[in-house]
Formats: sequence, structure tokens, C-alpha cells
Amino acid sequence: KVRTRFAPSPTGFIHLGNIRSALYPWAFARSQGGTFILRIEDTDLERSSQAAVDVILEGMRWLGLDPDEGPFYQMQRMDRYREVLREMQDKGLVYPCYMSVAELDALREQQMANKEKPRYNGTWRPEPGKTLPPVPEGVQPVLRFRNPIGGVVAWDDKVKGRIEISNDELDDLVIARPDGTPTYNFCVVVDDIDMQITHVIRGDDHVNNTPRQINIFRALGQEPPVYAHLPTVLNEQGEKMSKRHGAKAVTWYRDQGYLADAMVNYLARLGWSHGDDEIFSREQFLQWFDLDHLGKSAAQFDEAKLKWVNSQHLKAMEDGALALLVEAELKKMSVTPDARLPAISGLFKDRCDTVLQLADWAQRFYGDVQVNEDEAKKHITDGVRPAIGMLAKMLETVPWTKEDISEAVKETLRANGIKMPQLAMPVRVLVLGTAQTPSLDAVLAASKREVVLERLKKA
Ligand code: GLU
Repeated sequence: KVRTRFAPSPTGFIHLGNIRSALYPWAFARSQGGTFILRIEDTDLERSSQAAVDVILEGMRWLGLDPDEGPFYQMQRMDRYREVLREMQDKGLVYPCYMSVAELDALREQQMANKEKPRYNGTWRPEPGKTLPPVPEGVQPVLRFRNPIGGVVAWDDKVKGRIEISNDELDDLVIARPDGTPTYNFCVVVDDIDMQITHVIRGDDHVNNTPRQINIFRALGQEPPVYAHLPTVLNEQGEKMSKRHGAKAVTWYRDQGYLADAMVNYLARLGWSHGDDEIFSREQFLQWFDLDHLGKSAAQFDEAKLKWVNSQHLKAMEDGALALLVEAELKKMSVTPDARLPAISGLFKDRCDTVLQLADWAQRFYGDVQVNEDEAKKHITDGVRPAIGMLAKMLETVPWTKEDISEAVKETLRANGIKMPQLAMPVRVLVLGTAQTPSLDAVLAASKREVVLERLKKA
């Protein structure tokens, strides 16, 4: 049974690059009938915050990445880590190390001077027949993991292929601090074991931790999971996407009117592909998703592309479903829509990238309209005023259907000897504030008769 997890550290507001690391394990679990687990890695007390946890939870809820188990919080599992530490001590898998920070610094400097890689030299590692230095008084030791000596740690990474690291490159990792608190790599392994994780899908900034984690798994008598290390997501400037470089929180995109399904679609393609398919539904994605088609090189975020994907999903949505999203936006603008909203949404969805833009069109049917002055000057000329007057007169009595309105428009054109744009442009400007709208009869039919008459008077 497949079991995957997303293990974010709540040390900043989660951005698109981060949440992609939730999307893939979620999709893999869903597509395999497995279980998806959320684990909050909140042991860095200084940098973690509840606000950051909230953005993780909200972002995942928005995108529909619901965990089957969790959220678990590492801070609530401290007793369990201490228990495993004791077991490891009992089995001689870890040992206390009393080397002071000053001694460690001196060692590092000496190694650097010799052009060696800085690493702990095993001074306090017990070996048969070896005499350890005398234990200094009043010093609390760290606990170090007895890394195997010699041999290699190897795994077949689902993205990077086979990776082999010589054990001689790994030193004995500190897995508990002097105050007894466990360190990062150790907690991850205990959690991945307890949560029975079968596939670890995470950012490749963790590749260097993996051989160390695998050694801890084996020391605890467990086989490590399958690993897939995802290449970095770059921002539009080609830097690693990060809050520091201006990456926005996931929830910002929700607030800007992006659709959850479009975001899932966009993020899915940011590091995974299914042939040339660009636009697909969530269901389709789950049917197609596999670890074999994860991209091997860094993906670059592209806001214009995201907008385009969003517009494609917007267009494909049912008018009724779309109207519900538009209604939620209108409410925030204190605009109360009515039964016309699905039709209005349908009329404008082709020309919008986001729900917010759609709401901006929709509100013109309900509240006041801000007339674009430049367009008004250009289109509402003295020559066309009589025609607008005539149309207004006819609209007072025609049945309020698109067909009848269309007839009234045509008759006005004939009677005044003018062409469609000459009449349609100024009327659109008056009714919706701009000439850049869908066809005149459709716009008028979606408007209320008294509102149209009122606005035409302004000519
Ligand atoms: N907490 C780590 C991070 O936010 C992820 C650890 C993991 O997936 O193993 O980068």
C-alpha cells in the first residue's frame, strides 16, 4: 500500500514551489489508492509560526490536497523521538561526544588548511580496544550516530537515477543536542518509519540528507522508502523560488481569483509531463500521474503561462458553477447579484483570465458604472446621438429578449443610415463603461431595461 507524505517546515509563507512538493505525493497516493499524510516539521521554534501553518493548511484545502492522515506536528512527537534515542543508545547505535565547539572549530580549520573536507574525526566514537579521552566535567554531550565505515549508500532515485555515496564521505551525525532535543535528519527518519512511508517525494535540496537518513533507517532495522527528489522551481528571473526573492504565498493566487483546478493543472506541469497535454482536469491528472515522468531539470515559473492555463479552465467551466465563484467575489465588493449572473458569467468568461476580472465585468450589471472618458469622447459623437435616442425609444417597449433587441438595433441602423460599430461602440460605453465588450444585443439582453434606458440618457 502506497503511503506518501508532505512534510513542510512552517518557517515562511508557503509558495508555489513549496506546494508542488505536496501536489506530487498527493497525486501519487490518490492515483495508487494509497494514503497521503501531512506532517508539519515545526521543530525550528524560532523560525516557525502558526501563521505559516495556517497558510499551509489553507493552501492545501484550496487546492483540494486533503491529507488522509494528519496534520501531525513534530513538536508533539518529542517523547517518541526520545524513546527511539534511548533504544539506539541501548543498542550502541549512538554515542556521546564531548567535543566542544571550540575544539570542533579548531579541527575544521586544520582540515581546511590541509584541503580536506571538514568532518568530525570520531574522537569519541567507541571502538573495541580504543581508549576514549577522559570525560570533561560539567559538559553535556551531544549524541552522534555511528555511521557505517566503508562501503557505499546507494539508492535508485525516481528522478535522478542511481546515486551512490561512499560512507567515508559521511561523518557521525549529531542526532541529539546537548539538551537532549533530537535533530532534523533523525526526526524525519523516525517519522517516516512510524508513518510507514513507502515513497518520499521531496525537493532535491534534501538529496544530501538522504544517504544519512538511509543509514539511520538501516541501523533501526528498516528498509528505506523509495525516493524521488524533485528539481528546484525557479522564479521568472531564474533564481530559486523563495520568499526572499519575492515569491507570493499560495493563498495570494486564490485571492487573485485563480481557480484551484487551474493551479493544480499548472503546478502539475511544472516538473511532470504527460506528452504534449497542457490543459487537463484534476481527474485526468490523477489518472495519468506517475513518478516515471517527473522532469529531471529545474522548472521555471511563468506567470503569463499560469494566467493562460487559468483562462482555459475558466472558459471550460459551466456558467452556473462559475457564477458561484463570481458571486463570492461580488459579495466582497458588497454587490448582490441575481439570477442573471450565470448568463453574465458565460458572456464574459472568454475574455477573462481570472475570476476577479470576471467579477469586475459582472459588477457593472449591478452597481454604478465607471465610464471610460477617452472611449466616451471617441465614440459618443453628435452625429450618433439621434440614433442612440431612437434606440432608447424603441428599447422602452420591445420584449426584452436578445432577438427582439437585435431587431431594434438593426432597425435603428437602417433608419439612421449608419453601420453597427457606429452605434454599438457608444452604446457599450454608456451601458458598461467601455466599448470592449461582447456583442451589443447580448450585453443589452443581460442588462436590466431600466438600467439601460437610464444609462443611454447620459448621451
Ligand atoms: N521539512 C522539509 C522542508 O520543508 C522537508 C523534509 C522532507 O520532505 O523530508 O524542506
